[in-house]
Amino acid sequence: MSLADAVASTRSTFRRGIHPPDEKALAAESPIEVLPTPKEIRVPLLQHLGSPCEPTVKPKQAVALGDEVGNVEAMVSAPVHASVAGTVGRATVATLPNGRHVGVLPIKAGEQEIEGRDLYQDLLGGEWPLEEIERCEPREIVEAVRRAGLIGMGGAAFPTHVKLTARDDKPIDTVLVNGCECEPYLAADYRTMIEAPAAIVAGALLAKRALGARRLVVGIEDNKPKAIQHMKTAASGTAVEVKSVRTKYPQGAEKQLVRAVLAATVPEGGLPLDVGALVVNVETAASIARAVLRGKPLTHRIVTVSGRGVARPRNLVVPIGISFSELLAASGGVLPGAARILAGGPMMGFCVGSTSAPVTKGTGAVTVLTHADLQRARETACVRCGRCVDVCPLSLVPTRIAIAARHKDWDLARRYHIKTCMECGCCAWVCPAQIPLVQLIRMGKAEMATA
Ligand code: SF4
Ligand code: SF4
Repeated sequence: MSLADAVASTRSTFRRGIHPPDEKALAAESPIEVLPTPKEIRVPLLQHLGSPCEPTVKPKQAVALGDEVGNVEAMVSAPVHASVAGTVGRATVATLPNGRHVGVLPIKAGEQEIEGRDLYQDLLGGEWPLEEIERCEPREIVEAVRRAGLIGMGGAAFPTHVKLTARDDKPIDTVLVNGCECEPYLAADYRTMIEAPAAIVAGALLAKRALGARRLVVGIEDNKPKAIQHMKTAASGTAVEVKSVRTKYPQGAEKQLVRAVLAATVPEGGLPLDVGALVVNVETAASIARAVLRGKPLTHRIVTVSGRGVARPRNLVVPIGISFSELLAASGGVLPGAARILAGGPMMGFCVGSTSAPVTKGTGAVTVLTHADLQRARETACVRCGRCVDVCPLSLVPTRIAIAARHKDWDLARRYHIKTCMECGCCAWVCPAQIPLVQLIRMGKAEMATA
């Protein structure tokens, strides 16, 4: 099949959105590499929505790779595991990339049983026997995923076992696997689709089986023909459909993907399950396969380190709990023009205050922007051009919400549906007055939560 054939003729998409410069070329052709095991990692005890975990190990206790080190009884939560073999230290507190202060459990690395290419093979390589999937009971799949500590790795941090638990009142008709990766610079999902498509297909089929869904579709933006081709080859002969969707930001947002692939509209304040759909990210799908077919917990993830402010942009398999500074050092370090380090991409990422922050299950990228990237004109008054309204994928009025947030008028902010905003950044991107619309909305939401 040629690359051109691989891209389906349908070019579905959602309404509005933007086309920021691509920038994926910096890391897209760098094959996934395994980072050498660091001397110490710090496992955050809260990496999901819900309550923090309590340590289940004691200081000075020896742990093997994959041992559970923290857990909590609450339903919307996920256990955490040792991502290196070694000795547990005393719990302390660290600041996560999103600014939250959480407990962390240090583990000093000892002798590693598995590293480098062997670790890669263990996580993503080898055979993924699809015939075993039919023998798995739905509740066994959900339980294996719960024990493995899986959360949505596209950034949502929602425990995957909760998503995979079938509900009589909201049956799932279609599982949508999200291969869009629409943020500029990011390439981890792209590389996973090229290098480990069989694991994604196996995980997607397991998700479909857990939910008793009828249909399974992988949605990929049409600027990734190689990924579409690899996924189609891996999916051939299975129930997995691979569908290309138009390249547009934020095509990878759940509601926008549902709109593009299923032509269905998720109601305001609702979730894809309200229209019979469930969305899982490609790396989450591969992790489901690993959890169920190999009994492996979530200990590592693939992170894109990119941007013009880093010497060697690349895609790395890293243990959860490693510091951002070690990822940057492994990528040749930051360059003199570097101005800002982000956890995630420039559209939805968080500015990292300190590079000692640990990587979490939700960290898909580290982006280093330069002063040249950030050159902006000074903020001026709103010129009422309406461009922010024209691009908002959720049909909000960003300028009104931002003004309400700036004046701490929470009633007005609510009236303009501040909570509906997904903080995609489209409005700020197009604003000719350089008004920091998303920052104002984000701060407004945070202040409303504590008001
Ligand atoms: S208001 Fe929110 S959802 Fe709409 S464009 Fe701005 S950031 Fe995106
Ligand atoms: S895009 Fe900026 S200047 Fe134009 S209406 Fe929105 S906030 Fe005002």
